[in-house]
Amino acid sequence: MKIKCPKCNESAVLSPDFSVVKCGHCNFDMSYGEYVKYIAHKDAKYSDILGDYTGSTEGETAGSLDEWD
Ligand SMILES: [Zn+2]
Repeated sequence: MKIKCPKCNESAVLSPDFSVVKCGHCNFDMSYGEYVKYIAHKDAKYSDILGDYTGSTEGETAGSLDEWD
């Protein structure tokens, strides 16, 4: 799907499996998880997207990351 590129504000593409965000305008290329963190830091108004993302994967990535700490 098309989403707004956080770097150049042109239209970037989010892959159908929500794994990668790519922009052909500025060569932005990031995993969706990193993208969410990027825009969360960049603009607080995207925090609802961040909430949806963390809610759907809660208990999976967060737990495993803690174990490696
Ligand atoms: Zn871009």
